[in-house]
Amino acid sequence: MSTALTRRPVLAKLRAPSGRSPLHLICLGLVGLIVAAALLAPWLAPHDPNAVDLGAALAGPSAEHPFGVDAAGRDTLSRILLGARTSLLGPLGVVLFSTVAGVALGTAAAWRGGWLDSVLSRATELVFAFPGMLLAVLVISVYGEGLLALVLALGLAYLPYVSRLTRSLVLAERARPVLDGIDLTVGAGETVALVGESGSGKTLTSRSALGLLPPGAVTEGTVLVSGHDVLALDADRLRALRADTVAMIFQDPRAALNPLRRIGDFLTEGVRSARATSKADALARAVELLDAVGLDETALGKYPGQVSGGMLQRVMIAAALMGDPALLLADEPTTALDVTTQAEVIALLARLRKRFGTGLLFVTHDLDLAAAISDRVYVMYAGRIAEAGPAEALFAGPRHPYTAALLASTPRLTTPGGPLSAIPGQPPDLRTSLTGCAFAARCPLATEVCEQSVPEPRPAEETAAHLAACHHSDRLAAEGSVVDA
Ligand code: SF4
Repeated sequence: MSTALTRRPVLAKLRAPSGRSPLHLICLGLVGLIVAAALLAPWLAPHDPNAVDLGAALAGPSAEHPFGVDAAGRDTLSRILLGARTSLLGPLGVVLFSTVAGVALGTAAAWRGGWLDSVLSRATELVFAFPGMLLAVLVISVYGEGLLALVLALGLAYLPYVSRLTRSLVLAERARPVLDGIDLTVGAGETVALVGESGSGKTLTSRSALGLLPPGAVTEGTVLVSGHDVLALDADRLRALRADTVAMIFQDPRAALNPLRRIGDFLTEGVRSARATSKADALARAVELLDAVGLDETALGKYPGQVSGGMLQRVMIAAALMGDPALLLADEPTTALDVTTQAEVIALLARLRKRFGTGLLFVTHDLDLAAAISDRVYVMYAGRIAEAGPAEALFAGPRHPYTAALLASTPRLTTPGGPLSAIPGQPPDLRTSLTGCAFAARCPLATEVCEQSVPEPRPAEETAAHLAACHHSDRLAAEGSVVDA
């Protein structure tokens, strides 16, 4: 004899009763009855719920008082009916008021933007600053007791939450892509600089090569690193890619290291977990790389707080090279360092790139540094590539007004004195949908066509690899000085 033991699926047990279940219909009927009684309470209640008859206090059920009388001599049935009405209409009114008003205000703030958004945002913050209960007491003291005052008091307390949420959702729906049409390559052993203002998308572009995208990011296209499409990799393959194909040197080394772990642990644990490398081999590799970045093996036993910022950035570089990456991403790696250490780190990166043949994508807002270290340069503006090309050609003859304005606003020791130049205006807000060139509002060469169509990258006549996404790049090349930033 054989016995088959089967288990009823948990979901089957939890399934809600179907619409034809008698129990379901009975429950639905009861709820409907209670709701109807609450709504019709003013007409169904046999007495004034607050009328006091002390002579009948605590009387039992009778024809006149079907549910009896309470200790204060008030009719119990009338009080239950009218109390149920308040309990039903109060929360319903609060939800309706806060939802309708919150959605309207949040949508208006996000849609209109500008002063309306500022005013509504400050008003919302003001309401947030009040404790909810205090706000309720304030409203009730102005409007008096009653259902309306209760709805207003609680509705006002919840309104900012709904308004904020709505504003964020509408902004997210309206936002244009953070990165748009980025076409960027880094060859083996090549140094490519990515420059632009803060917020132009440089860091996000470099992080996309590691698959480090914001939660919920919607992506199109491909990010290929050594033939692997980073956007299509699952978590395990992404971890393996980060361990041995692409690595990043972050801006602030102190923020990247665990202050409670020794530098030796930081250097070795990545390769040991991803490649199953033995501890001895990982340590030998760490010592070799520490030597390459100018540190000795005593650094292995130290904690991050025991070494200087410059030494720590060298440790970061050694850590990035532990997996022999094909591509090294350096996100403003010298920003947190003093000038002397900056120069040492830059020279070190150049030496290591030559020695290990690693491709280097160098993110910076320092144009002179980009010109000094890179083979090619990409200039980003508002999430798009404005100009790209060999460093020498691009800096000698910019073909995009934004690049020209950036160069013009770089302080020079050769022309001291006088006010510093700046690019007028601000980069476009992410909420602004762009129908034409993103730089049009700040560009001295802008014409009607710039507002109407997005310029495609076009090669220069003399250097095909020098591309500029500008309708009037030829005019800029011819006139040069029209940009007066
Ligand atoms: S396309 Fe027009 S607005 Fe844009 S950079 Fe060129 S000239 Fe200026």
